[in-house]
Amino acid sequence: NRAIVLKQRPDGEIQEGDLVMEERPVREPQEGEVVAQVLWLSLDPYMRPRMNDAKGYMDPIKIGDPIVGESVARIVESRSDKLKVGDLVTCYSGWQEYVTFPADAPMVYKIEQKEGVPLQTYLGVAGMPGRTGYCGLTYVGKPQKGETVVVSAASGPVGTVVGQTAKTEGCHVVGVAGGPEKCSYVVDELGFDACVDYKAGNLEADLKAACPNGIDIYYENVGGDVTRAVAPLLNPGARVPICGYVSAYNAKSTDKVETPFDILKRLDPVPEHRFFLVTEWQDRHQEITNLLTDRIASGEIKYRETVAEGLENAVEAFKGMLKGKNFGKQLVHIAD
Ligand code: NDP
Repeated sequence: NRAIVLKQRPDGEIQEGDLVMEERPVREPQEGEVVAQVLWLSLDPYMRPRMNDAKGYMDPIKIGDPIVGESVARIVESRSDKLKVGDLVTCYSGWQEYVTFPADAPMVYKIEQKEGVPLQTYLGVAGMPGRTGYCGLTYVGKPQKGETVVVSAASGPVGTVVGQTAKTEGCHVVGVAGGPEKCSYVVDELGFDACVDYKAGNLEADLKAACPNGIDIYYENVGGDVTRAVAPLLNPGARVPICGYVSAYNAKSTDKVETPFDILKRLDPVPEHRFFLVTEWQDRHQEITNLLTDRIASGEIKYRETVAEGLENAVEAFKGMLKGKNFGKQLVHIAD
């Protein structure tokens, strides 16, 4: 069993020697536990802040422990009547090839496969990021027909679901993404009304042109310059679901990070809080995954993926994702 563990805490960008591959024994299952083989590992921006020695909404990863992460896994040994050998689940396995856990552990979801919904999408648009996009837009953003919705990191799994859900609600939808290729995809394939390339050097003017009636909902994924450009265009009563701010995740411990709350503090009303899917709407997770998989199967929700092959390529893929090298959901394929 190979695992990628936190050897030392990165200070800024992840460097050689921070995350290291180790051989680790697979723990024998106790009564009520199962052993699962990881097939697909999800790489998500939140993993980077969890490597810091700072208490956030969850504890930091301990030195020597595998990096946290969700995967699609197959049960290969079972001492529980809740899951049997061959069942497919999503679970928080961490970055490793095998994992032992109680079958009734929180956030272990058995996958009921649907035609037209590939397994790995349960880590992307049908899974945690997709539910985040759906819940943040629906319950925090509360979109109304005809409103203008802007979403950053538009081509990623969260942004993809936010934008396509907002279109279903009859909104004018504008994405923000890095580079012409991602922006064309967001408009031509995902069906957003416009997409602004924040790297093209004309962010304020391009955003203004794409939002002639101002902005009613800004779904925050990135923070920094994009948030600064959005702020003056927000209409009275605008809602800003603060989902994440990936532009600050690689900050050095000595840097002062300007959060979206700092940037938007003069807004009326000020955004209430940063929401976290892991702690909110848990009773609706399965229902929302059902709704999303129906929309994926029918072709209503389109999406893209970037796949790294093998656990040995996870670190490079993760570093790349924090700089936007991924195009769509970043996954690691580990086994069939
Ligand atoms: P993505 O697949 O969209 O990957 C991150 C993207 O962020 C990159 O592809 C890149 O896209 C963009 N990015 C990176 N650096 C910058 C920068 N400096 N300025 C602007 N954009 C940048 O990730 P997800 O869809 O998985 O996640 C999106 C956001 O949602 C993250 O902030 C994440 O932390 C948050 N999240 C929050 C959850 C919650 O419960 N609150 C749960 C899940 C996700 P581009 O090339 O277009 O710049």
